[in-house]
Amino acid sequence: MRRKLVAGNWKMHGLKADLGEVRAIAAAVPGSVDAALCLPFTLIASAVEAAGALQIGAQDVHEAEKGAHTGCVSAAMLVDAGAGLTIVGHSERRADQHETDNQVKAKGEAAHKAGLRVILCVGETLEERDAGRAEQVVTAQVAASLPEAASAEWLALAYEPVWAIGTGRTPTEADVAAMHGAIRAKLRELVGGEAERLRILYGGSVNGANAASLLGCADVDGALVGGASLTAEKFVPIIEAAAKL
Ligand code: PEP
Repeated sequence: MRRKLVAGNWKMHGLKADLGEVRAIAAAVPGSVDAALCLPFTLIASAVEAAGALQIGAQDVHEAEKGAHTGCVSAAMLVDAGAGLTIVGHSERRADQHETDNQVKAKGEAAHKAGLRVILCVGETLEERDAGRAEQVVTAQVAASLPEAASAEWLALAYEPVWAIGTGRTPTEADVAAMHGAIRAKLRELVGGEAERLRILYGGSVNGANAASLLGCADVDGALVGGASLTAEKFVPIIEAAAKL
């Protein structure tokens, strides 16, 4: 039985004035699910103090341990700030920063080496889905960006169809279950029995109204949530939906 994980991604939102939302979310985390917020780098250290059972993480990490990489943040820096996890390979970074599968894999490995847990994102574009290539694209991303020695102790995957992020559109439950099943089958090929323990989150326009049905799909072990994670009012119902499953 895989314990549900509900993770929020604040993207480039959030100032110190918003730490009250972190506190309100933290106060509502039930003992039966894992909950996390992946915040802008600037908020991590102060959010950790307010977080309680809520895990605080980052949205990206550099693959190098240190060096001449102006504007970047290393895994050791995230640990130093108090982060417990980081997202890698979010589609916005794959698109905007042209991150490759190889780079995403290196980021996951650097994060793990420094002691962080990792959420690895994969997902197809609408063009790829319309061309009937969604499963092929996503399972290829999994194979190419999965860190070495992947283990459920520190790694979760997130299936996030690019066309469902921030659009209010979601795949059908059948499509979600089919893709999560395909990802798990690929993981069996790659890591054998550990595939049964690895959590696969769904992400893309999850909200309080659709969380129960999306989280109830076969092989869905939680959610990665963007817009609806910005306030306790919207995020807590998703955590509560997960706790009821
Ligand atoms: C995301 O960016 O990871 C995401 C799932 O966003 P949203 O929930 O806003 O679609």
